[in-house]
Amino acid sequence: VLSVANKIEEIDLTMPRNKIDLFIKNCLIITMNPGMEIFRPGALAIQGDTIVAVGPEQELQALEAEARKIMDAQGGAILPGLINVHTHAAMTLFRGLADDLPLKTWLEEFIFPAEARFVNPDSVYWGTLLACAEMILSGTTTFADGYFCLDGVVKAVDRSGLRGLLCQGVVDFPAPGIPDPAQNILEVERFIEKWCGFSSRIEPGIFCHSPYICSPDTIRTVKEICRRKNVSFFIHAAETQEERSLIRTRYGKTPIHHLANLQVLDDQTLVVHAVHVDSEEIEILARTRTAVAHCPESNMKLASGIAPVVEMLNQGVLVGLGTDGCASNNDLDLFQEMDTAAKLGKVRTMDPTVMNARTVLRMATIDGARVLGLDKEVGSLEVGKKADMIFLDLNQPHLVPCYDPFSLIVYSARGSDVQAVMVEGRMVMENRKILTFDMEEVMDRVRRISGEIVSRK
Ligand SMILES: [Zn+2]
Repeated sequence: VLSVANKIEEIDLTMPRNKIDLFIKNCLIITMNPGMEIFRPGALAIQGDTIVAVGPEQELQALEAEARKIMDAQGGAILPGLINVHTHAAMTLFRGLADDLPLKTWLEEFIFPAEARFVNPDSVYWGTLLACAEMILSGTTTFADGYFCLDGVVKAVDRSGLRGLLCQGVVDFPAPGIPDPAQNILEVERFIEKWCGFSSRIEPGIFCHSPYICSPDTIRTVKEICRRKNVSFFIHAAETQEERSLIRTRYGKTPIHHLANLQVLDDQTLVVHAVHVDSEEIEILARTRTAVAHCPESNMKLASGIAPVVEMLNQGVLVGLGTDGCASNNDLDLFQEMDTAAKLGKVRTMDPTVMNARTVLRMATIDGARVLGLDKEVGSLEVGKKADMIFLDLNQPHLVPCYDPFSLIVYSARGSDVQAVMVEGRMVMENRKILTFDMEEVMDRVRRISGEIVSRK
């Protein structure tokens, strides 16, 4: 195992070398910039939390002399940290609790009752930190979360060093942390007020569960608050055929028409799933510039169906990749999700040329950043962007040879190939060891909570 730490060469600090904090050389850089440029060998320079140079090693050699630290990446790959646009991080608490069931039974008979009894600020904190450990170790640097007791999520993400768009959940029945649903709007406003501007890595948002659990009034009011506070609005919609029929019976419209009718679709709304949508609904999503979170493994596991992602992309809908909560996946590894998204899209259309490796890697990086409104800061390795990046060791049998780096990352690499993770210029993981918190303690806490869940079920 190559040691990134050992590769950093400390330089005499009495020398006036304060222009660059870290110079990384001898690496394969997958930039994900608009030209999808690859530099091999490439080099990259970081000052503080920002990328100040990236390009072919030969062209940047002069910068090496200005650097306080130099890292020889020894031929490894560097790419932007992956972006998970939809999960419920603390649901790690319920990983494997109830599998192989339809969505309705799974939600109503297992997940909602378990959440009512066992979700509290403490369990959410430890469950989220466990998710952060898993995400860090599989190369995710930014994720969008939707859950309850979000103060615990914010604290966990802050400690982990990851970047998050963290959304307080809203439902029209008593929820963890909000026993009286009449208070849910107030709670949402409190949450946004409390955490806006708290950290450069954390943004608050709001997540209405779905059109079948939230009333039209709740959805409209929450979106109104989001517009006023300029924050993102998330909602699960068009996930199953059953939901489509239910919403049609209740409101005389399909879920997407229903949301369009409530005037909540715009470029700060993210529709999660969009599995059962026809071409007219895709056209509505495109016209309103509503983004979509594609969660193929969750949709497969719950047998919800396959989202028409190719059609959405063709019509100009912005699509990011999500794992969903890991009670319906059951992991948070975006490398696996990329592989699945590509292959599932091909099988659905019976066309091997669609959902190619470049498209899918864009969904997990720069397009994911666009979906979350964070593309000015992250999603690609470009000058001026935050230094959020992951380092992969390519010196492994399943990663040799390397003809096309995009194919290698999407079809051959695994989360466990990620050797180091940097967020805002700070290493949060090196040599597969998390540096920001004690992972053993976190696993221990979650095992203890799961013991309670089993004994009091
Ligand atoms: Zn979800």
